[in-house]
This record gives sequence, C-alpha cells and structure tokens, in this order.
Amino acid sequence: MSHTTDSSGPASQIVGRDKDPFLGEDNPFEAMMARFDNAAERLHLDPGIYRVLRQPEKQIIVSVPIVREHGEIEVFTGYRVLHNTSRGPAKGGIRFDPNVTLDEVKALAAWMTWKCAVVNIPFGGAKGGVVCDPPNLSIVELERITRRYTAALFETLGPESDIPAPDVNTNERVMAWVMDTYSMHVRHSVTAVVTGKPIEMGGSLGRREATGRGCMIVTKEALAHLGIPAHGARVAVQGFGNVGSVAAQLLQRDGLAVVAVSDVSGAICNPKGLDVDQVLSWVREHRYLAGFPGADAIAPDELLTLDVEVLLPAAVEHAITRRNASKIKAKVVCEGANGPTTPSADKILEEHGVFVIPDILANAGGVTVSYFEWVQDRAAYFWDEVTVNDRLTTILQRSFHDVLSVARRHEVNMRIAAYMLAIERVAAVHRLRGLYA
Ligand code: NAD
Repeated sequence: MSHTTDSSGPASQIVGRDKDPFLGEDNPFEAMMARFDNAAERLHLDPGIYRVLRQPEKQIIVSVPIVREHGEIEVFTGYRVLHNTSRGPAKGGIRFDPNVTLDEVKALAAWMTWKCAVVNIPFGGAKGGVVCDPPNLSIVELERITRRYTAALFETLGPESDIPAPDVNTNERVMAWVMDTYSMHVRHSVTAVVTGKPIEMGGSLGRREATGRGCMIVTKEALAHLGIPAHGARVAVQGFGNVGSVAAQLLQRDGLAVVAVSDVSGAICNPKGLDVDQVLSWVREHRYLAGFPGADAIAPDELLTLDVEVLLPAAVEHAITRRNASKIKAKVVCEGANGPTTPSADKILEEHGVFVIPDILANAGGVTVSYFEWVQDRAAYFWDEVTVNDRLTTILQRSFHDVLSVARRHEVNMRIAAYMLAIERVAAVHRLRGLYA
C-alpha cells in the first residue's frame, strides 16, 4: 500500500498542467446540446424523452470550507452534476480549476452520458468540479478540499450511484483521498467508489494507457475501412501528454510512421518517421519536446496541415477551426482530445471527405477501462494487463462498427452517428423503464 498523504510541497507537484478548459462558449451546456439537438431531430426522438434527456437529473452545489495553511478559513464552491443514470451509476471526473462553472459541469456530465452509451458500458454521465486554483494551493490544502468536497457529496457518491474519476488537475492521488474519505464514512473500504486509483489500492492495469490505446485501435479500424494500408501510414500527433504519447508509441509499434508531434513548447517533424521511444526519453529528461535532436522544428500550426494519412489532435479543444480545416490533408482525424474540432470545421472536413473519428468514440478507451476497474473492484478479482487490453480492443472495435453502421444507414458523418447511437441507447432504456410515479 503506498503512503499517499504527504504533508509538504506545493500542489503543483501533483496536478496536471495544460489540461484544457471545456468549450469556451458563453454557455457550454447549450453548445453541447446543439449537437444533441441535431442528432435527436434526425432520430425523430419522442418529444417527452427529448425533454427528459435535455435536463440533468441532479445538480448539486456545495460549500467546501477548509482551514488554509496560514490558519484562515476559506470557502470554495463545489459542483456535482448527474446528467442521466438510466443505464447505470453516474460516471465522470472531478476537476479542480478556477474556471469551473455549473454550466461547464452540466455540459461535461451530458458528454459522459453519450460517451458511455457509445461504447455501451452500463454507466450514466456525471461530472464534478471545485472552483479553486491548485498551483496556488499546498498539497495539504488540496487534500482538505478533496476530503470536504467528498464528505459534502456523501449521499450521492457510491459504487451503485455515482463514481468519480480524475479530470483536469486531479489525479490518482486525489482519487485515493476520495476513496479513503468515503470509506471512513461507511466504515469499510470501498474501492469501487472511484476509478483511476493507484494500482496498489484497486486501480486497473492498463488504465493509464487506455485512452491512447483506444485512439490506436479506432485509427486502425478507420484505415482498414478506408482501404488505406496501416503499414507506413504517416501520423501527426498534436499533444504529447498521456493520450498523445501513448497513442504515438502504440501506432508506431504497429508499423505506422509518426512523422510529427507537438506539445506546448513547439512541434517537431521528421518525414522519415520519429523514433517515438527516443522522443519519450527526451521528454522524460527535458520535460518538453523542444530541442529534440533528429527532427526539424516546425510551426505548431503546420503540424495540423501536414501531408499525412492520420491527424491525431490530443491536446486542446478548438484545434481545428474554420480557419485551418480546409488545409487539412489527413484522410483520418482521430479526436484524442475532447472537443478539438469546432462545429464549423466539422462541416468543412466533411465537404473535403476527411473521415473524423469523434471524441466520444475516439477517446472512450479511458472510461472503458474505468469500467473494467469498477468491475474488478466489485468482484475483488483483478485481471492481467493482456486481458484488460484484449477486452478494450473488443469493445472499441465493436463500437467503431456500431457507429459506422449508423453513419451508413442514416447517411451522416461519424460524429452525428455516434450521438444518434448514444441517444437511441439511452432513450431505449427510458422507454422500457417508463416514468416512476
Ligand atoms: P496531458 O496534460 O497529459 O497532455 C496534454 C499535452 O498537450 C501536453 O503534451 C501539452 O504540452 C500539450 N499541449 C497543450 N497545449 C498545446 C498546444 N496548444 N499545442 C500543442 N500541444 C499542446 O493531457 P491528456 O490527459 O493527454 O489529455 C489530452 C486531451 O485528451 C484533453 O483534451 C483531455 O480532456 C482528453 N482526454 C484525456 C483522457 C485521459 O484519459 N487522459 C481521456 C479522455 C479525453
């Protein structure tokens, strides 16, 4: 068992940097729901079910008072939104960020409902957040916020009802505190109350790599569908963090040529193919890509418009906009990041025949292995990594083809098809369950 409570050091040691805020629209919930509306209309969704799905089931606002290190009390605001739990317990991350708003949390909770439904795992959608600025908090303060927020949500959380996970500025250490706080309240250890935990305390093998692995799996399915040989296919990856670096590594192992990668420090390119393992060692040592020998530095925006077969945006939202969409030469765009393509860019990419694997499918590998973690915790029986990866592959390959068949049947692009599939799955359960009382 690792000792996870440290009493010193700045919180920046344990918080993720560079994680993106959600869509910068005035009202992110409405921005998300515009896509939902489009798919719902094509499905001729029953107006009653439409009204049910447009509203989150539960929105909770809590005060999170803590004693700061200097002795003063400060009160933070926390949110938890459960969008829909018709298919199973709510699932969704907790983010710590100064820009967290209730509308953002609502939007992200709905997004989780659709993501879980696309890959057909028995979860609904949720999201949570605390308005705070982790780089300006100590680890002790971060732990106090986490524990008090968890305690405030005690009635909602639970392996049968609402299961958090890491998100922006939270990680496995924060999840360990959530699990411990919840367990102290119920007086026994409940590992399945959160996912994304350290392996030593009930986390799953393969969870860290799951999102990048999922990107690799669906990219290969897309290439096969388009009749493009995977071997030698050129790939450009924007973002070299958890998702981008793992996807790049796995794609290269499968014979694709990763010709360009980027991070906040800039972009590098080698038309003959980068040695991704060497790039990773460089980043481990120097933190950033800049200065990597054996590649040319290119402008970050140039990466997006390189002559490649696959473009994998895995960094920020709104990377592909109406300004650059018509210059994109990739045949396949695999959305590792959440929301990397704006709706106006969607239209342009479609007109240019670019095959987009939408975020709610492309990056669903993470939540799928979170589901495996929950299953393993509840069974108290842990799988080896090969089993985790094989089952992930089965689910993502099947989901890709489920979405593709909706796209063909309704003559829509993969994004609309993914939403249609997800909404139809959630609506079907509502029809079967009916309305209580
Ligand atoms: P991360 O913080 O580990 O990595 C982000 C990477 O993007 C870093 O290399 C950073 O330097 C780079 N970056 C930031 N701004 C950039 C810019 N303007 N141009 C180029 N590179 C830039 O984050 P992550 O976990 O890999 O997540 C990346 C994206 O994937 C986010 O949108 C996240 O919401 C999404 N996502 C992640 C997971 C997961 O399991 N980690 C699951 C689903 C979706």
